[in-house]
Amino acid sequence: MLPIHHIYPKLATPARVVITTHQKPDPDAMGSSLALSQVLKALGHQVTVISPTNWAAFLDWMPGTEEVLNYEITRDKSARIIAEANWIFCLDFNTLIRTKHLAPVVEAATATKVLIDHHQQPAVESFDFGISDISKSSTCEMIYDFILEAQLETYLNVDVAACLYAGLIGDTGSFRFPAASVSVHKMAARLKETGLNHTVIHENLYDNFMENRLRFIGHVLTNRMEVFYEYNTALIYVPKNDLLRYDIKTGDTEGLVNYPLSIGGIKMAAICIDRDEERKWSFRSKGNVDVNTFARRFFEGGGHFNAAGGRSSASLEETLKTFRQVVKENASEFQLI
Ligand code: 5GP
Ligand code: MN
Repeated sequence: MLPIHHIYPKLATPARVVITTHQKPDPDAMGSSLALSQVLKALGHQVTVISPTNWAAFLDWMPGTEEVLNYEITRDKSARIIAEANWIFCLDFNTLIRTKHLAPVVEAATATKVLIDHHQQPAVESFDFGISDISKSSTCEMIYDFILEAQLETYLNVDVAACLYAGLIGDTGSFRFPAASVSVHKMAARLKETGLNHTVIHENLYDNFMENRLRFIGHVLTNRMEVFYEYNTALIYVPKNDLLRYDIKTGDTEGLVNYPLSIGGIKMAAICIDRDEERKWSFRSKGNVDVNTFARRFFEGGGHFNAAGGRSSASLEETLKTFRQVVKENASEFQLI
């Protein structure tokens, strides 16, 4: 993978561009994709954003979401566009598996592949050019850097800024995580200069759910949470029936994993959701607890030091049993005791 700056001069020639990101895109994944899309369109490129799956309704306010293709319902069209692309930008993931069913299509494409991402341990052999920087708060911060370094700042308008700001607050927990560096705050200030209304963006992302989600959270925190004080760990699990009973949609469970971290002393929180095709895990931690390694080692996953995800093909009961056991057996290695 060659450094990203090699592509700056090539961007002057209009081309067919595809931008893709990880399955079930979050604000950083969708925000970075849409921001880059707007800038490349302004440069004269023909750009298509393709998401491997559907996404949460709380992202639909972002300028450009109405044109994003969901691969799961546009397979033939999306595959054709990918096959004909000159460039494929891969944002906010670093191994093609994260694009689910889209992975073989992207892999087979002849386009030049560019990675822009901040997760640990990138599969660099899959990309021609790119930048992988785990010190960055978000892929949106990296797209902002890209815009400045490629001298495209004239295209940084309020719509681009809104997409970037959403990813920035999504991945920094609204500026509270350690990754919210000096440059992150300077970037936020620069985005504000475009006329950005940050209050509305917070409301769009966090205050626009339906009543059922709040009642679901109440139910889960009361009935589906286990706290292991001896290992400074908490676990939340969601059986399929709960998802059906409360009519839970994509995005409704986002953020749930953070609640147990508000209990004093808890250093690791995990949530396991029983999805149709797999049991999906999310892990969050504080301080020196490395959930990237934890997810990689025990749950086929990965991510960041303090925020990671994984999966299991075992039943809900079995995978929960594994979790309780690996926490107990590896508590000292993961600094949980
Ligand atoms: P979340 O828990 O919000 O789904 O994900 C937390 C972080 O871990 C995100 O940066 C996400 O991209 C990453 N992540 C989530 N699931 C997986 C997974 O199954 N594999 C890998 N490698 N990363 C994941
Ligand atoms: Mn991200």
